[in-house]
Amino acid sequence: MKQHYKSWGLYPPAKHKNVIKLHWISDIPDLSRIETLVLPYGLGRSYGDNCLNNDNTLLDTSGISRFIEFDKKSGIIKCEAGVSFAKILKVIVPNGWFFPVTPGTKFVTVGGAIANDVHGKNHHTAGTFGKHIISFELLKSSGKKYICSATKNTELYKATIGGMGLTGLILWAQFKLKPINNAYIDAETIKFKNLDEFFELSEKSSKEYEYIVSWIDCTSRGKNFGRGLFFRGNHSSLDKSELPQPKPPKRLPFPFTAPAFLLNRFTLKIANAVIYRSQLKKHTKGIKHYDPFFYPLDSILNWNRMYGKRGFFQYQCVVPYTDGGTAIRQILECISKSGKGSFLAVLKTMGSVSSPGILSFPREGVTLALDFANHGEKTRKLFADLDEIVKSVGGALYPCKDACMSPEMFRFSYAEWKNFNKYIDPKFSSSLWRRVNKEKE
Ligand SMILES: Cc1cc2nc3c(=O)[nH]c(=O)nc-3n(C[C@H](O)[C@H](O)[C@H](O)COP(=O)(O)OP(=O)(O)OC[C@H]3O[C@@H](n4cnc5c(N)ncnc54)[C@H](O)[C@@H]3O)c2cc1C
Repeated sequence: MKQHYKSWGLYPPAKHKNVIKLHWISDIPDLSRIETLVLPYGLGRSYGDNCLNNDNTLLDTSGISRFIEFDKKSGIIKCEAGVSFAKILKVIVPNGWFFPVTPGTKFVTVGGAIANDVHGKNHHTAGTFGKHIISFELLKSSGKKYICSATKNTELYKATIGGMGLTGLILWAQFKLKPINNAYIDAETIKFKNLDEFFELSEKSSKEYEYIVSWIDCTSRGKNFGRGLFFRGNHSSLDKSELPQPKPPKRLPFPFTAPAFLLNRFTLKIANAVIYRSQLKKHTKGIKHYDPFFYPLDSILNWNRMYGKRGFFQYQCVVPYTDGGTAIRQILECISKSGKGSFLAVLKTMGSVSSPGILSFPREGVTLALDFANHGEKTRKLFADLDEIVKSVGGALYPCKDACMSPEMFRFSYAEWKNFNKYIDPKFSSSLWRRVNKEKE
């Protein structure tokens, strides 16, 4: 039994019958001969169970991690699916290129980023990562390989982007990078007192800033309700001579698996207030290296251990922006009253750039993502209440952050789920897929 392959939320626990480490894309074992169902596994940065395959087999892709081609003039890169964003950054940034879209951690693989069709701080201008994929090769369990692009095997292309590893194994991918002048961001932080201010800032900033995101104090109530910090930025256009000396990024390990009592209503309130007050001025500007700007959490290795042995959940929803953000207000009120949540709460508006993936999560509106320690039924009850609000306005939940959503909520969130079924490889499955299809593990 291989038990050390986990998801980022450390929940649910999974026992894999087998883990097959892949090394060469030209020498993948015959998948049809594996006794159990299989699922590709990248770096396990999905929070819930969409990277787990309880009682079945994982295909660990971290060994298929070679660069194939990088055209420094056009910014088109081709690499194997197990290459991490961290490894790519080391090559592309010194050559004046950056990811067209990046999630909030660089410890993800290209295959994982396609399979969840990840989004970043520039969703309002660039859409999802899948939008920038030129082509990829998909291996089916039959042994057949398909080159997929917007014009070739199009249906499989659309099903695999955001297809959660269920359509087959992505062997390599080719995508277009964006040009940058240097490794820095002209970054600003603005304190907002409430949600009206947040929405006003979002509207103004989305026109002039490529990257926007905010942290929100999810414990705040009364006159402080909806307060937070708004981050925005653009790639810097300064010359090399004007830039600060780069410092090696600091990496602090989270020292131990924290005891559950450490995170309670009281400590959460204090932590949130400290973060809010850490910004003394209303508005600050400065030049920031891309690493702390895009990946602040990567500087604390294994921070997921702070929620204790029972692990934690993330709840990420997107809701349309209507009536001055009523739904987001209701969701935040519900969380604040519950005294749950954490100091890692992110709020962001999403733009109208459509995703190619038929099961992609991002859509126009407002997305809220926050962590919750695992308090069993109490946490699930809160999520059920939040789901009702999300449903009432036609919103959706993000499967790569999820370990709880019901089959009903999944189908509500993804109207195309029936159509998607046609493209699933019969040999591929995941713990999440069986859960949202009500099959028993
Ligand atoms: C700190 C942090 C911040 C994050 N911020 C964001 C964010 O801003 N936006 C966002 O969208 N997400 C975000 N995420 C989630 C993360 O980007 C996704 O879960 C991502 O897909 C993880 O990639 P991975 O390589 O670890 O894949 P895994 O988590 O291992 O797997 C994810 C899915 O990809 C499939 N897969 C992996 N490799 C392949 C392959 N070769 N072929 C086919 N399928 C494959 C798996 O089967 C699984 O379904 C964040 C996660 C963390 C921990």
